[in-house]
Amino acid sequence: MTCELISVGTELLLGNILNTNAQYISQKLADLGVNCYLQTTVGDNPDRLEEAVRRALARADVVILTGGLGPTCDDLTKETVSAALGKKLVLDEDSLAHIRRRFAKMGREMTPNNVKQAEFPEGCAILPNPHGTAPGCIIEQDGKAAILLPGPPNEMEPMFDASAMPYLEKRSGTKLYSRMVRIFGKGESSVEYELRDLMDGTNPTVAPYALLGEVKLRVTARCRSEREGEKLVAPVIAEIRRRLGAVVYSDEGRELHEVCAELLLGHKKTLAVAESCTGGMLASRLVSVPGSSRWFLEGCVTYANDAKARRLGVSTDTLASCGAVSGQTALEMARGIRRTSGADVGLAITGIAGPDGGTPEKPVGLVYIALASGEVEQVTELRFTGGRERIRNSACLNALDMLRRSF
Ligand code: ATP
Ligand code: MG
Repeated sequence: MTCELISVGTELLLGNILNTNAQYISQKLADLGVNCYLQTTVGDNPDRLEEAVRRALARADVVILTGGLGPTCDDLTKETVSAALGKKLVLDEDSLAHIRRRFAKMGREMTPNNVKQAEFPEGCAILPNPHGTAPGCIIEQDGKAAILLPGPPNEMEPMFDASAMPYLEKRSGTKLYSRMVRIFGKGESSVEYELRDLMDGTNPTVAPYALLGEVKLRVTARCRSEREGEKLVAPVIAEIRRRLGAVVYSDEGRELHEVCAELLLGHKKTLAVAESCTGGMLASRLVSVPGSSRWFLEGCVTYANDAKARRLGVSTDTLASCGAVSGQTALEMARGIRRTSGADVGLAITGIAGPDGGTPEKPVGLVYIALASGEVEQVTELRFTGGRERIRNSACLNALDMLRRSF
């Protein structure tokens, strides 16, 4: 099966926007093993678009178009593809109702040109758009198909995954099955170095994504069923775990704070946190997990020295001799929040997020994290680079990682 892409939009030709839709779809097609030999970018011009559609349909089994499904007069993808296929446009009442509801929800008036978004080539399959007004569609004719998707990536990507992908899977007789491995505590280049040979594999494929402070690996198999997919993916994930060890914290795509939540719940332990430079970021991540009230007791933002002493009982001697950003202060914060909250585990962060406040001995990015749990106490000193947000994010992730590894 072969597929072609047509990206519609004058702003793409002018270089005003990056064609991320083409990248997104191309990657999925490659994973699926569908050949895509040609991609076209065309402006909002009906004649040139129609020519591009005719040529693509003459060569490929399936043509995927993005953009130009909106209500304005320069949005002409549906009209043009319908003309190229000799189909009439007809009004779809369900889509019109969906568009009306969306406008009502946003409290905006629906202008008459929006009705156009509810018109479709006769006999097509309509693809719902939960993230916008313009639905997509799949038109079949003489064994060929055109798939029309909206331009905005936040609408196109979910529609592609929910509607276009199942269609392509069915048509090509293959499925994609993937699992996400998440890694903390090892950089992307070092992960890549250790897994180089696995990344050269074709089925399953192993693709790295670097996040802020983390690495994700998507392991994707081309298969005929989920069972077959799991059979292909499982040994590769086992090998990744064997090589990387404890830095792998999930092979089901879970976030670090979700993994911590599961561990606390599983061990029937409660947690309280004390934060200085992260100002509640850690507590906020923890309570983003549904059901966190079962294990999260409280979070305390103790920013000033006085607050650290008064709320957590950090000794004024420690603050005076070691400073607010020190291992000893972090430890006393963890002990203090644990004692005053009655939680099983106390976790604390103190550091210098910058851009000001650094000294040669205590530079911006210096962070101490401490954990107090049962008989176990731990403190770690970390030195991060980057801006304020990045440092605060790294501090949170490291605190969560310390918590995870304490089980
Ligand atoms: P709308 O209802 O928003 O008009 P549409 O389906 O008509 O959607 P376009 O008008 O072609 O889509 O594009 C709308 C916006 O979507 C563009 O301004 C751009 O920000 C984004 N977009 C369009 N095509 C692409 C693409 N190929 N890659 C990335 N972004 C795109
Ligand atoms: Mg538009």
